Order: sequence, then C-alpha cells, then structure tokens
Amino acid sequence: MIIAMQAGATEEQITHICDRIREFGYTPHLIRGAERTVIAAVGHGDKKEHIESLKSADGVEDAFPILQPFKLVSREVKKQRSVIRIGDVTLGDGSFVVMAGPCSVETREQLMTTAEAVVAAGAKVLRGGAYKPRTSPYDFQGLEEAGLKLLAEARERTGLKVITEVVNTSDVDLVAEYADILQVGARNMQNFALLKQLGAIGKPVMLKRGLSATIKEFLLSAEYIVSHGNPEVMLCERGIRTFETATRNTLDLAAVPLLNELTHLPVIVDPSHGTGKRSLVRPLAKAAVAIGADGLMTEVHPCPEQAWSDGPQSLLPEDFAALMRDIQPYVNLRAQERN
Ligand code: PEP
Ligand code: MN
Repeated sequence: MIIAMQAGATEEQITHICDRIREFGYTPHLIRGAERTVIAAVGHGDKKEHIESLKSADGVEDAFPILQPFKLVSREVKKQRSVIRIGDVTLGDGSFVVMAGPCSVETREQLMTTAEAVVAAGAKVLRGGAYKPRTSPYDFQGLEEAGLKLLAEARERTGLKVITEVVNTSDVDLVAEYADILQVGARNMQNFALLKQLGAIGKPVMLKRGLSATIKEFLLSAEYIVSHGNPEVMLCERGIRTFETATRNTLDLAAVPLLNELTHLPVIVDPSHGTGKRSLVRPLAKAAVAIGADGLMTEVHPCPEQAWSDGPQSLLPEDFAALMRDIQPYVNLRAQERN
C-alpha cells in the first residue's frame, strides 16, 4: 500500500507510520519528494483494515493499495522519474546518454582503439563484456578479470564510465570493484539469486529484458533489485523473440513509452542486439531518442569482421560517429523541450 504523508508531516509521525507498517508485517520504503514523503509498504497483499487504520494516523494525508504487482518501481508509488548519477553522467533527467563499445573485451589494442573512438564521438559510457553468456559452450566466454582490468585502464585513459556484464553471483563483488554500472544480461533477467545480490551493492545496475519476458516480468525482476535495497536500476529494451527471423530479435520500441508510463526507472534502448544488423542500428537509435528513451547502448568494433562476438551487428567507429551526428538534432530538440 501507499501512505502519502501530509506536506508538513514531522519525522516522528513518519517514524510512527513506519513502525505500524512493520507491526502489520510489511516493509516500509521511504520516498522523499520535494514537498512530501510517501511511504510504500510492501510485503503480502494489502489488507483493508491496515489501510483504514493508517489513514486515521496523525500526519497521514491518504493511504491506498498499490494496484500493480510491481510496487517500488511503479509510477503509482513514485511519480517523479528516478535520476541516476554516476559522476558527471546523469540518467533519467531528460538527457540522452550513449553507451558504446565492443560486445566482448578482446585485446588491449581493440578496447583502447574503440574507447578513444567512442569518446571522441560523444559517448559517455564504455561497454564491453568481460564475462560472456554465450549460447554455445564452444564460443569465446570472455577474458574475465583480465578484461575488467582493461576496462578500468580504458576508463583511466578516456574518462568514460564503464558498464560490463555480471553473469554469476560469485563474480558480483569482483565486477563491482571495476564497473560503474553492472549489466544483467537478457539470459539472466530472471536469475533471482543474482538480482537479490545486486540489491546489496551500492552501484547502478542495468537490467536487460529477457528474450521472451513480458513487461510485467521485466518490471518484477527490477523490483527484486530495488526491494533488496538498490534503487539505482535502469531497464534496457534489447529485443524479444518473435516469429520474425529477418532480424535477430524484434526490438519492441512500444515498450519504451509503455515503461515510461508504468515505471519511474530510466530506460535504455539496445538496437544492436535488438536487430542483429549493423544497417538497422542508426535508424533505430534515432527512434530511441524520439520515443523518450534515456539512453542508447550500441556495439562498436574497430574491425567487425574480426570480432570474437557479435560482429554483424557491430558498427565501425566511423559509422558510430555518423550515428552520433544523426541523433544530435533529436537530442537538441529534447533539450529545448526541457528548458
Ligand atoms: C551484450 O550486451 O553483449 C549481451 C550479451 O546482451 P544480451 O544479454 O541483451 O543478449
Ligand atoms: Mn553482444
């Protein structure tokens, strides 16, 4: 349930409500807005008598049930959009953040060349997998810690923030030491042990949509991370599996405005995995800005033909620079609308 406190509610009144919520067997989560505090009580089903009792407590404006199955990530609970700050990079405030880099970290030269190229073109975050969840056990599985070290070196050189995937619960602490944002891959969207553990790290997480996940399942996975203590979650639409075989996946662009209706979390679009085709990445990147995504993730490789993974969907550095020029007018338009 949601308990909206009155604008002038005191700390004692807020603490009292939190105590009552615990007594009833729910967990309170405080959302402090500019004017008033809202308390989300999550746990088992909302009981009418609990709601009625809290409604009559001092300092309470109103109390009502949360209708959606996902609670803390829902816009019912928090109307204002969540903003995630990583140094000078801000996600969710209306700006558009571009994350780019190779699918996998392969060699120092490959990563540094890519990092220099994407930062020069205007990217803010470097992507690169050090742990790769591959469909075939015979495919390259990632450089692991050596890859994380190269990512940290690239950050040092370029000032880019780093996003990289964590595949196993046993690697969470190690990956968190190196990454600025931890990525949960599509295949792990419902790895609940991993999601719970990511609730306990003090770093932002980007959750990718599962290959056949519904929006509800996607948001419930995000709810796992947030309800375990980490509010800094962003969602990534990366295409879903449909009957269509002309593209690797079907990029569900409608998911972006829909997520913006349902949740306050930032939303990123990944047209590289979403289409699997280099030629489709640029037009869909433009669409991502136009439909209100908070950012873009795209794969870039200095020589896609020789990439150890996902070459066909990787952009050459010059194609990436062209993409950045392509999206600029749309980004500017959004900035104007904001001001
Ligand atoms: C990736 O970002 O390289 C990746 C493996 O993505 P996904 O989990 O969306 O397939
Ligand atoms: Mn990839």
